[in-house]
Amino acid sequence: MVYDIFIIGGGINGCGIARDASGRGLKVCLAEMNDLASGTSSASTKLIHGGLRYLKYFDFKLVKEALKERDVLLKIMPHICWPMRFLIPLQSFKINNIFIRCGLLIYDYIAGYSTLPKTKTTDLKNSSLNAFLRSKFKKAYIYSDCWVEDSRLVVLNAVDAKIRGANILTRTRVINFEKKGKLWNVITKNNKGEIHEFLCKCIVNAAGPWVDSVNNHIRSKDTFSTKLVKGSHLVVNKLFNHNYSFFLTGNDGRIIFVIPFQEEYSLIGTTEVVHESMQQKPVCSDEEKNYLIDFMNNYFDFNLNKDHIISSFSGVRPLYSNDKQKSKNMSSITRDYVLNLDYVDNLPFLTIYGGKLTTFRKLSENVLLRLKDFFPKMGGEWTMKQPLPGGNFLIHDKKKLVYKLQKKYPFLDQICVKRFINYYGTLSFRILKNVKSKTDLGKNFGHSLTEIEVDWLLKNEFAKSSDDILWRRTKLGLKFNDNEKNKLENWLKFRI
Ligand SMILES: Cc1cc2nc3c(=O)[nH]c(=O)nc-3n(C[C@H](O)[C@H](O)[C@H](O)COP(=O)(O)OP(=O)(O)OC[C@H]3O[C@@H](n4cnc5c(N)ncnc54)[C@H](O)[C@@H]3O)c2cc1C
Repeated sequence: MVYDIFIIGGGINGCGIARDASGRGLKVCLAEMNDLASGTSSASTKLIHGGLRYLKYFDFKLVKEALKERDVLLKIMPHICWPMRFLIPLQSFKINNIFIRCGLLIYDYIAGYSTLPKTKTTDLKNSSLNAFLRSKFKKAYIYSDCWVEDSRLVVLNAVDAKIRGANILTRTRVINFEKKGKLWNVITKNNKGEIHEFLCKCIVNAAGPWVDSVNNHIRSKDTFSTKLVKGSHLVVNKLFNHNYSFFLTGNDGRIIFVIPFQEEYSLIGTTEVVHESMQQKPVCSDEEKNYLIDFMNNYFDFNLNKDHIISSFSGVRPLYSNDKQKSKNMSSITRDYVLNLDYVDNLPFLTIYGGKLTTFRKLSENVLLRLKDFFPKMGGEWTMKQPLPGGNFLIHDKKKLVYKLQKKYPFLDQICVKRFINYYGTLSFRILKNVKSKTDLGKNFGHSLTEIEVDWLLKNEFAKSSDDILWRRTKLGLKFNDNEKNKLENWLKFRI
């Protein structure tokens, strides 16, 4: 078989392109060397946002595209994406307040018509929102953006791509590619050590922070290059009794977010540290932990320290950086993406530099626009209105869906029901379709994870290990202890 497009990398960009291209009738193969979303796409801050802070760098094009996408994505994936309100605490008589207010006015203006509430100012004096905030913060601006379950976004794109005919290979590394006649021959090696070859008309390099190491196969020196910047997050027990997130500005000009996370936790991040090479696994250093803790303690009274950290994770931003930008600070390097179409012996090879979760759908459309000359018969744009699997309902009806599932399965606990709707949306009813009583859920692995869900993930969502299930299909890894994890691992050995 000859594929039209071979995609290297199963992060959000690779899977988004695979979905879009297969929906247009192209023959697509995607290879991911580990699990889907095992790179940067599961280590983000998990926001679908315009990027308020990018206004500081006059990145209006990116902000505009991202703000427009916010509303589109809320419609096509209301299960894994939902609105969030962000609080910016303010001290009286600070010049910075005026800049932030102007930024928010522009933000709301660029967003245009949006279903999300606009910015407002609130008095913190007699508000429950001031809990733990230092008394110097008298007022706050409150603005809107959205949350997304990042790794599920990747997986659902891959699931839909497969439904539309794509061949999705995980644990499969691309080790080489070369010209063979008028086609590319892509050589892969999977985790069993098997070597396979695939013929295709075009290659898309969506390897995220590994983008340059993949491109080394075709060129020794590249004028476009990525700057690797590590960002780390801390997870602590839930800090507040409300569902607002915080947008905090630091004395160093950076910002961090504090966000309600998986019902019982708060997520704090992120940092920005140069990461020399992807041969080094990104981890949160002590300096980064101290930085985030100090940042928090400047704002709040609860004396956070390292003992409060339950978990941490780090990802590497593959930022596009040209020579001009090398001298600038890391915060100022654009988060926008750049597409580079090369012809190697007349064969198309498209490289993606940078990008954001928020703009993945638009990026995918633009990739296919760049490839239109090679595939003139492919279909037109379609992803703007087609929900991701399980997302065929309105965000306003989410509570009704939770109620309906709870009513049908009264023996499921409330947290589990909510989790199902947030992860699987309307597919929850399909996953549970043969369940009549608690025993039909099968083995209970703890924390509401049962055999029926694990089976679904193995059969339908490319999961192959306990880490895939606990960290990228769900975030139950935060709750599982080693013993529970081993039990799941042992059970999987007989299942796979
Ligand atoms: C700390 C942090 C916070 C962020 N927060 C946000 C946010 O809140 N909102 C937002 O919109 N964006 C955010 N981003 C940006 C966003 O996460 C990234 O732009 C996006 O995830 C990049 O996706 P990708 O597909 O390009 O890369 P990746 O997700 O890294 O995927 C690339 C994949 O390619 C695979 N691969 C590499 N080489 C090979 C090979 N030879 N063969 C096969 N597979 C290979 C890797 O295993 C990897 O899975 C954040 C980024 C970071 C680091």
